[in-house]
Amino acid sequence: MPNTKPIYDTICLIGLGLIGSSIGHAVKRGGLAKHISGYARSEETRQIAKKIGFVDSIHDSAASAAQGADLIIICAPVGAMESITKEIAPVLKAGATMTDVGSVKQAVIAAIEPHLPDNVNFVPAHPIAGSEKSGPESGFAELFQDRWCILTPVESASIESVELLEKFWKALGSSVEVMSAKHHDSVLAITSHLPHLIAYSIVSTASDLEDVTQSEVIKFSAGGFRDFTRIAASDPTMWRDVFLTNKEAVLEMLGRFSEDLSALQRSIRWSDGDALFDLFTRSKETRNNIIEAGQDTDAPDFGRGHISEKE
Ligand code: NAP
Repeated sequence: MPNTKPIYDTICLIGLGLIGSSIGHAVKRGGLAKHISGYARSEETRQIAKKIGFVDSIHDSAASAAQGADLIIICAPVGAMESITKEIAPVLKAGATMTDVGSVKQAVIAAIEPHLPDNVNFVPAHPIAGSEKSGPESGFAELFQDRWCILTPVESASIESVELLEKFWKALGSSVEVMSAKHHDSVLAITSHLPHLIAYSIVSTASDLEDVTQSEVIKFSAGGFRDFTRIAASDPTMWRDVFLTNKEAVLEMLGRFSEDLSALQRSIRWSDGDALFDLFTRSKETRNNIIEAGQDTDAPDFGRGHISEKE
């Protein structure tokens, strides 16, 4: 059940897109703060946020939004976090907790930590929840329900600040795990970053083909391709920043993936059906484990019942 008591007096959201707006909705639903202040880069986003009402006050600078806040959550692309931190650092309240939702953690720590005053607790976070949609209208309160949120606190953060942020994410509906930033970046390189890279790549390959028309690619996409297109429709700015900032771990996983792909290529070339069958059987087990862990449903057609319902 969602918590119904404020965990922080004032929460400041910097960046009001999918993740920022979803946090705003969930905080309001659970009454987790007395006040939510918000800032986004464009006037358009600020106006939409104001109209939807997932923040209580909207500000035209990050510093004005962050002033006096007990929890500051940066929900902007990773590449923007350093300049945002430099701007807000002078106005941060003593004892406040600074966090973020960035999809990589070592680079975020390198960008933020050097600029923070000593009396601010820094507890980086990454909710493993999201979608290919972006912007202030795409958020919803249930986004974090039954998902994981990883915390990678820096050494200087107080235990109390880590525990309070853990309580906050649990109140948003998530389970919480604490790990090192380095380990986070390796885990996410294989579970999220590499799959996005493969999706971007396969969609690009399909659009460059000469002997299969674009209309055929779209018409027959239910054969598997459309599932890659959903992932490849993710925000280009966010994903550019992910690959630029988690280079090392992504290149390591990409190396392993390339080797495995070459082995598959060899199995096909030499008609090694046993090798193919064994690998596909192991993959099916992984899918079953994900369903058993409650991270997806076993509804047919990847849960797209709505398509046949419409027909
Ligand atoms: P989004 O929907 O595109 O929203 C990004 C927000 O950041 C927008 O409000 C944008 O403002 C604002 N912004 C961009 N540059 C800024 C700057 N320099 N200063 C202040 N605000 C700025 O993106 P999102 O999906 O919410 O992603 C936000 C963060 O969450 C990223 O760090 C991403 O790695 C992380 N994340 C994303 C997912 C996912 O699936 N999408 C999942 C987990 C974590 P304007 O609207 O005015 O441009």
